[in-house]
Amino acid sequence: MAEDALGNMLAQMDNAEPYADIDADVFERLKHPERTLKVTLPIERDDGSVDVYEGYRCQFDSARGPFKGGVRYHPSVTQDEVTALAGWMTWKTALVDLPYGGAKGGVVVDPNDMSDREVESLTRRYTEGIRRMIGPDMDVPAPDINTGGQEMAWMMDTYSMYGGYVIPDVVTGKPIEVGGTAGRVEATGRGVAVTTRRAFDFFDRRLEDATIAVQGFGNVGSVTGRLLSSMGANIVAVSDVSGALHDPDGLDVMAIEQYISENGVMAGYEDTDNGYDDADQITNGDLLRLDVDALIPAAIENVITPDVAEDIRADAVIEAANGPTTFDADMILRERDIPVVPDILANAGGVIVSYLEWVQNSQQYSWDLEQVNDDLETRLARAFDETLDAYTARDAPDLRTAAYIVALERVGSAHEMRGLFP
Ligand code: GLU
Repeated sequence: MAEDALGNMLAQMDNAEPYADIDADVFERLKHPERTLKVTLPIERDDGSVDVYEGYRCQFDSARGPFKGGVRYHPSVTQDEVTALAGWMTWKTALVDLPYGGAKGGVVVDPNDMSDREVESLTRRYTEGIRRMIGPDMDVPAPDINTGGQEMAWMMDTYSMYGGYVIPDVVTGKPIEVGGTAGRVEATGRGVAVTTRRAFDFFDRRLEDATIAVQGFGNVGSVTGRLLSSMGANIVAVSDVSGALHDPDGLDVMAIEQYISENGVMAGYEDTDNGYDDADQITNGDLLRLDVDALIPAAIENVITPDVAEDIRADAVIEAANGPTTFDADMILRERDIPVVPDILANAGGVIVSYLEWVQNSQQYSWDLEQVNDDLETRLARAFDETLDAYTARDAPDLRTAAYIVALERVGSAHEMRGLFP
């Protein structure tokens, strides 16, 4: 479904334009990415054979600062998908007011089928392929689906080897040992949890004892689940690629996290002696349709399609993934009065802490966890309030439109101030 992501991103822009104060010519320009590089990556496999992979880096807009955005390794990566994701990074960095533009990279690959050495070769070759367009002041990659600290360390090392000296701020999301920051691994999930708490305040509901279903249990889903649980919410369902678990009395999120770290997937957890014999196995489709206080999609795009949107019984959707709700599904949820806290707000914690890492690298100074988390919460709270202001003052039909109003106006006025070259 990745091919629909760009159509959804552009439809979201069109939907918000009538509410935003933005020059029509600038708006038209914003529908086209600045540039996209496609690279071919021949990789020697462990058995001596050579496989050829395709990778992309899309730089969507840089009016407000250097390009910023993650790199994902996934079989469904396409040029249109990275373009949509780069667009969403542009709106996200603008909404939380970071001095960045938006970009995204991807390689069409399932790294779970590769050895660590093969993933290292792929990462280094991809970095070489895009190295002429990245750099601390130009474009700063970060982790996304199936990439993390190790891949960022390899990217940083490869880029630094070409530079001839260590250049940590070429990527963010690095391990602490090579210039990473406290709090980056948990940042996206922490941001989702903090935003969920504020959203519940706004909906005038209690987060304590609220029932929550989390779809996707990778880095973002698992941290979100764990932190919401520690805030008193009841995580009643979680899923990963291997299936979904449901227990109306609440799941032990940390035990599931532990099980996945030992076994790779969630499948089989219900048979262990963690004391969760009551957890039922359900399908991903069932999870999306549970009667819960909030549904948190935390995996990939286009999970909430129109037929899912018709059936959703959750009282609210909080988007931890990028682009989980299709545009048509969004219109159905709007009609059904089910509020959606949009991705560009809910999951912005990751890029906020990436920014803090980049700032620390450039100052050769490091902050403690408390300082990082405080800054993260302050920025998210401000963006949340600005979104709510736009929602009421502009009579926006939903929170996504409100968030886009703020983002489009920021990017739009940067373009107007800078003018058209030549
Ligand atoms: N991949 C994350 C996102 O989609 C983080 C990007 C970054 O830190 O640059 O927001």
